[in-house]
Amino acid sequence: MAAPAAAPAAAPRIVIENCAIATVDATDTEYASGHIVVAGNKIESVGTGKAPENLENVVRRVDGTGHLATPGLVNTHHHFYQWITRGLATDHNLFNWLVALYPTWAHIDEKMVYAAAQGSLAMMARGGVTTAMDHHYVFPKGSGDLSGAIIRAARETGVRFTLARGSMDRSEKDGGLPPDFAVETIEGALAATEETVGKHHDASFDAMTQVAVAPCSPFSVSTELMKQGAELARRLGVRLHTHGSETVEEEKFCHELFGMGPTDYFASTGWLGEDVWMAHCVHMNDSDIAAFARTKTGVAHCPSSNARLAAGIARVPDMLAAGVPVGLGVDGTASNESGELHTELRNALLINRLGAHREAALNARQALRLGTYGGAQVLGRAAEIGSLEAGKLADLVLWKLDTLAHASIADPVTALVFGAAAPVTLSLVGGNPVVEDTRLLHVDEDAVARSTREEAQRLAEIAARG
Ligand SMILES: [Zn+2]
Repeated sequence: MAAPAAAPAAAPRIVIENCAIATVDATDTEYASGHIVVAGNKIESVGTGKAPENLENVVRRVDGTGHLATPGLVNTHHHFYQWITRGLATDHNLFNWLVALYPTWAHIDEKMVYAAAQGSLAMMARGGVTTAMDHHYVFPKGSGDLSGAIIRAARETGVRFTLARGSMDRSEKDGGLPPDFAVETIEGALAATEETVGKHHDASFDAMTQVAVAPCSPFSVSTELMKQGAELARRLGVRLHTHGSETVEEEKFCHELFGMGPTDYFASTGWLGEDVWMAHCVHMNDSDIAAFARTKTGVAHCPSSNARLAAGIARVPDMLAAGVPVGLGVDGTASNESGELHTELRNALLINRLGAHREAALNARQALRLGTYGGAQVLGRAAEIGSLEAGKLADLVLWKLDTLAHASIADPVTALVFGAAAPVTLSLVGGNPVVEDTRLLHVDEDAVARSTREEAQRLAEIAARG
């Protein structure tokens, strides 16, 4: 006799109470003291006061006294491999910095890239990032399965992840910046990108891994690869990512080579659209911003990297006013050695206040939105993550704000954004804890520190031999 079908078990619940909450929903709803109920991998309820009573299957209760809960941070631009080439070419602009570093980068291998990805991911996750991305575009011949190594590191850390499979095919002999030995052919790059999408891209609501098509930049990629890359992404139904309008030198390069500025060049190659997001976008005039707004092309704002390379100040207040989706990016850690995203909330706010809009440029809530919902938008995942709302995935962070660093600041969002980098007491990704009491749960930080140092030294030695 068949046993009667068992009733489906109720999803395990985590109840968080007594914390301030910034939901970053459409109307910026906040609670001075509220609750969040997580059921399985989703948020079941968010509200003021205590959680509803008589909830079944509660496996954990968290007292959030002294904390602020926010959506998990979303990083929208990074180059993980640069973790093992930090602190080099420290006084260069973008083009000189690239030319100084390409010869070293051309020697990376799978073991180095894996260690660098672990380091990059660990640093961000510890600081409240729950969705990471890596724009990887250096694939030296014979270097192994770099995409696989990066995705493995993301899975092990426990964060949600987008791999932007990059490529370069315009080397020095074709008027580009990378050395000849650091580039792929068009056919090779497109085939490898398609294979990576087929193997790793998950389109489902709660996907942990997604893949985007991401030729590197106008000055390292041929027009043909830009065009065919866009066609490939649209055929496969995945997003497109690249660098754009980063420096005055790039603008000059585009005018000389293509007879037009970067935004017009992107339009001519199929690279404006709601399925595209672009890093930097520093040198944008009014009509460039209007084109991004009209097409809903997203921007990854990377304030620290832009400052480090003296690239300039992106016009974020103007982009937001025009309706351009804007998220935040760490950028590669060879141009932003700290590698943290929570400090970019503060840097975005401060750097934009040095621009034309002065003290009205951005406020603390807008900065928090850039780092959460804005990031989800540009990664194409705003329906699933980026705000604390019932039905969305339970990606959230509890920031500790009752210690020396923040306790005397009354407003928790002001404390988080204007204050020192806040410690993370708990972060959840799809309801799974990734950080507890400032320590990563799934990765040994000390072991990662050792292996990244070893791999950085090994790369330096190989590069020195040439
Ligand atoms: Zn970049």
